[in-house]
Amino acid sequence: MKILIVGSGGREHALGWKLAQSPLVTELISAPGNPGLAEFGRTILIKADAAGDLAALAMREQVDLVVIGPEAAAAAGLADSLAKVGVPCFGPSKAAAELEASKAFMKEFCARHGVPTAEYKVFDDAIRAKAYLGGREPPFVIKADGLAAGKGVVIAETRRGADAAIDEILFLRKFGTAGQRIVIEDFLPGEEASFFALCDGDTAIPLVAAQDHKRAYDGDKGPNTGGMGAYSPASIFTDEMRDLTMERIILPTLTGMKAEGRPFVGVLFAGLMITPEGPKLIEFNVRFGDPECQTLMRRLDSDLAPVLLAAAKGDLAQQPPLAWNQRPAVTVVYAAQGYPDEPLKGSIIRGLADAAQVKDVVIFHAATRRDDDGLLRADGGRVLNITATGDTLQDAVNAAYGAINRIDWPSGFYRRDIAWRALAK
Ligand code: AMP
Repeated sequence: MKILIVGSGGREHALGWKLAQSPLVTELISAPGNPGLAEFGRTILIKADAAGDLAALAMREQVDLVVIGPEAAAAAGLADSLAKVGVPCFGPSKAAAELEASKAFMKEFCARHGVPTAEYKVFDDAIRAKAYLGGREPPFVIKADGLAAGKGVVIAETRRGADAAIDEILFLRKFGTAGQRIVIEDFLPGEEASFFALCDGDTAIPLVAAQDHKRAYDGDKGPNTGGMGAYSPASIFTDEMRDLTMERIILPTLTGMKAEGRPFVGVLFAGLMITPEGPKLIEFNVRFGDPECQTLMRRLDSDLAPVLLAAAKGDLAQQPPLAWNQRPAVTVVYAAQGYPDEPLKGSIIRGLADAAQVKDVVIFHAATRRDDDGLLRADGGRVLNITATGDTLQDAVNAAYGAINRIDWPSGFYRRDIAWRALAK
């Protein structure tokens, strides 16, 4: 198989790392790729949201499968462009990507199909939105409707804070057109877990769950980020929880999406709150979580290539269940100082090869570039992902931090408490 991976982050590097181990894969190209992916094959400088150019590339290269990493590529209609030219694609159509691209669509869809989620209302008018808060209990959850890189959610303890968030999104357009509408929903207390299923439009295969850390600093403090670390397995996500999630959330969604003429192909990522009544949906994403994907790839024993191809072709029902390694895995994100607001770009990173020597450690590139001088530089917010496995979660955590200690990058920072919740148990 010749495979094109679309995207440039740690998630895509991890997918490439896993696919490159498949005996079925003869060639792996990526667009735009990164210095890590470059070790497996050509990287071609086309942006992930340039759907037409990517479809032309897939045709020209006669690839057997395109794997979509980021939501931007799905939302830009890459799967639709590829369908037109007959190239199998693992990733959702633009219409199916609405599950992530519009929180209002997602909430209304859940209401139509009985998927358990928080009570909500959609507004485009600030006065009505503020009036609605009068009848609800704090904390108030205010969300921009559209894609806002994981930052479009405000949880306000007071009416004043909630009113300010409404004004910032609807009037000041803090998130641009993503904030033309807002969703206000009830706060769900509990512990969160991320759950993933591979879908082919009709059939879903469950993956394992992971837990991530959204806040920038130790102790779950500081601003929300795309994710500072993740670990798997997630101890609260029992087999019973998995079965309930498949039965109440994933399968009704798959059936509902098909019935509405938007069959879902790709990874359905359910952000869940684990409540006493079972799992409740916080959000859907239409792609692998980053950094959860990196953690999952370290635990997956099965060959990924035939499964992704089967999902793209509607053949998942014929696939055997996936085999997972019982050893826990962890990912620590090494971010550039200033992230998430204004990450410092261009600083030099040294010592990666030495760090990668640590037993059970694999390092993924999330936002790096290699300049003509051969030096590796930070090129974004979340720059490196240090992943490790271990006999115990503590062993995996120790290995990951041991590797980080060998990296020479004064302009980076990371959380020192990844997996604390699970370790405290
Ligand atoms: P989202 O982008 O919708 O996943 O929201 C980002 C984060 O906000 C989630 O990971 C939760 O920690 C939190 N959150 C969102 N919605 C709720 C809710 N209804 N109740 C409690 N926490 C929430």
